[in-house]
Amino acid sequence: MADKNAFPTYRGDMEYFCLGCGARYDTTELHYTCPDCGGVFLLQDKNFDALRETSGEEWREIFDTRAGSKNDPLRGIFRFYELMAPVMDDKDIVFLGEGNTPIVQSSPQLSAELDGQKLAFKNDGQNPSASFKDRGMACAFSFLNYLIRTQGADDILAVCASTGDTSAAAALYASYASDKIKSAVLLPQGKVTPQQLAQPLGSGATVLEIPGVFDDCMKVVEHLADNYQVALLNSKNAWRILGQESYAFELAQWYDWDLEGKAVFVPVGNAGNITAIMSGFLKMYDLGIITALPRIFGVQSHHADPVYRYYAEAPKKRKYAPVEVEPSVAQAAMIGNPVSFPRVRYFAEKFEAIAGEGSFQVVQVSEQDIIEGMLLANRHGHISCTQGGECLAGLVKARQLGLISADETAILDATAHMLKFIGFQNMYYENTYPAEYGITPKPELANMPELVIDAESKEKLSAQDYTVACASSIVEKLGLKHR
Ligand SMILES: *Cc1c(COP(=O)(O)O)cnc(C)c1O
Ligand SMILES: [Zn+2]
Repeated sequence: MADKNAFPTYRGDMEYFCLGCGARYDTTELHYTCPDCGGVFLLQDKNFDALRETSGEEWREIFDTRAGSKNDPLRGIFRFYELMAPVMDDKDIVFLGEGNTPIVQSSPQLSAELDGQKLAFKNDGQNPSASFKDRGMACAFSFLNYLIRTQGADDILAVCASTGDTSAAAALYASYASDKIKSAVLLPQGKVTPQQLAQPLGSGATVLEIPGVFDDCMKVVEHLADNYQVALLNSKNAWRILGQESYAFELAQWYDWDLEGKAVFVPVGNAGNITAIMSGFLKMYDLGIITALPRIFGVQSHHADPVYRYYAEAPKKRKYAPVEVEPSVAQAAMIGNPVSFPRVRYFAEKFEAIAGEGSFQVVQVSEQDIIEGMLLANRHGHISCTQGGECLAGLVKARQLGLISADETAILDATAHMLKFIGFQNMYYENTYPAEYGITPKPELANMPELVIDAESKEKLSAQDYTVACASSIVEKLGLKHR
């Protein structure tokens, strides 16, 4: 029997492949974008063909056995070591409890409210920094450790621009990984939630802010990377994309490697996550680990929808153009010029070539639908962030458009924990949205704390009478019956 704790012996030979000009570079250096043309990279394993010598069936057995591993490096995303970044040794791998996030089936009541739709959430908010970004960071930081060990790299300054969650994850992993790695994060002032701001501060990172939006921060850190010695950890960094593929691997494994009739909904911001998820499914398909691809639905808000706009056109008329974003409750996806767009195009084409037209789609939803999607999910036992709510809104939209049927199972990516984005729930309940969001709260959905007794009444009562008075008031409010 295979040893579930044994670290894999297979080693790949990873290279960067430029989607702009086709150039290839080896991975002894950390490349962020193509030095020739500035294009984005994918990482490919030159030895990938050797993995075909193992059958799909055998791979499934290997990964299923490893699912019970107590060897730290194999407990997270590197359960799927051979499919991801198989250059590192076990001692390079950083494990902070990421990955292996639960898929939670919706309650019959939620299903009924959605016209009998079968659906589940995959709770990526149950990662250590409470978003899926940890998957990519675990891979990127493990690679930095590998570079430090094999190339003697020293004094690495890891930098990122962020809509909040990238910086939380980067700062967390930097604070753990190595004293040779320091981290600095650049945020758009006032455009990340208080929780997201507190995270990198708590991890001890240098936190820098500028007025503007994410896209402005991105330009600044790219200028830094072009001219100074820094390791950029934004999702242009191809090592992050690799780590995020683990979402697809886990999802397939959960459904016993059978993805027939499954549709995966993903919120799209910088488009790194949807890229990684498609790449992961294609890799498993390529090796016969899965024999059917799920359908992929990207979801975008009408306030930040360049990818939707591109795919809304007939294939021959498609032309990519960035958009000016407007305020969005799906703030982590509020990006007008997604850096991974070329990657999406590359993988979407491959997806459609195998699984046919309609296997990759992008739907657009309103801000109102996004926030109400989150509220609806969470009133039925989920812990979805606004971006997860965006997925729910996307599912409803896809149903309306006839793109999906009730008996297909939709798996919605709740990309972060609800608590990171709870301010948007509060604004809904308190009816305090600035006009630019275009959200009109429905009073019947608001839920506010009710004061049982006021402070003035408390003053006038003895301690015992006070307890009884509070209890009586509660009895009345809840209509309780005597025992
Ligand atoms: C980053 C992020 C997104 C957007 O993912 P991309 O890879 O940028 O498309 C969505 N939701 C949350 C919670 C995020 O942190
Ligand atoms: Zn290039």
